[in-house]
Amino acid sequence: MRFEGKSALITGASEGIGFAIAAGLVKEGARVVMVARREEVLAEAARKLGPNASYLVGDVASTETAERAVEAAVSRHGGLDLLVNNAGILRPGTVAELSMEDVDAMLAVNLRSAVAFTHSAVKPLSQRKGAAILMISSAVGRIPLPGMSVYGATKAAMQHLTLTWAIELAEKGIRVNCLCPGAIETPAFRAAAQQIPHLEQWTLANSLIKRMAPAEELARHALTLLDEKEGGFVTGAVWDVDGGYQLQRFLG
Ligand code: NAD
Repeated sequence: MRFEGKSALITGASEGIGFAIAAGLVKEGARVVMVARREEVLAEAARKLGPNASYLVGDVASTETAERAVEAAVSRHGGLDLLVNNAGILRPGTVAELSMEDVDAMLAVNLRSAVAFTHSAVKPLSQRKGAAILMISSAVGRIPLPGMSVYGATKAAMQHLTLTWAIELAEKGIRVNCLCPGAIETPAFRAAAQQIPHLEQWTLANSLIKRMAPAEELARHALTLLDEKEGGFVTGAVWDVDGGYQLQRFLG
């Protein structure tokens, strides 16, 4: 119960990686506020986690959702200790193919939301000992991948924000870290695999460890970074959990 008494806010928590992190935190004693858009899916996800999980319906692309979500965590749980900027979307396409609507959507959901949630959360986080922010970036934010340029750019930007915020927020006692997942078994990966031919085979061929990881496996790394004891000396870390995705290319 290493998160006993902790209050956490997780964006994009109705399924996939965000849900797995919320579940891990609740299992270890935290109270969580889960944010996503579809009320039915979100309510069912929170119900599965029991009374220490509640939810807030909203589009993370809106500043108002960020403000309401932070207020909800503070008023429901007496403060905020942990923020996980997880919500993200992938709209594949080369620069010639992408519509500007898709570009705006990825910038808003993947990047602007992380800024808006963090902006709203800094004050309550700075009032708690052991506060931490976790960014969910992507292996695609590390290396160029045709058809994912804007998605990759938003994810690379999250890594940059992590480094800068780690410096800015250190004096407030807030640690900021980032995970860069490779192929994780989630509804979003399955949806992407339907749009991008051979995505799964390509991803596995380009990893040293030839498997996908379940979302729960990534969540265990998230909990390590969020935990004050295990992760307390770690800030500004950009941590790859990708099966060696970036190293495989050195083998030719
Ligand atoms: P998912 O689609 O399975 O879950 C995403 C969650 O975000 C859902 O709860 C969805 O409802 C929510 N969401 C999406 N847009 C939203 C919006 N505008 N407002 C509020 N909520 C919104 O995705 P996932 O695979 O679990 O991905 C989670 C994060 O991990 C994303 O940032 C993604 O880019 C990143 N990531 C995933 C993988 C992978 O292989 N699955 C790999 C690298 C990085």
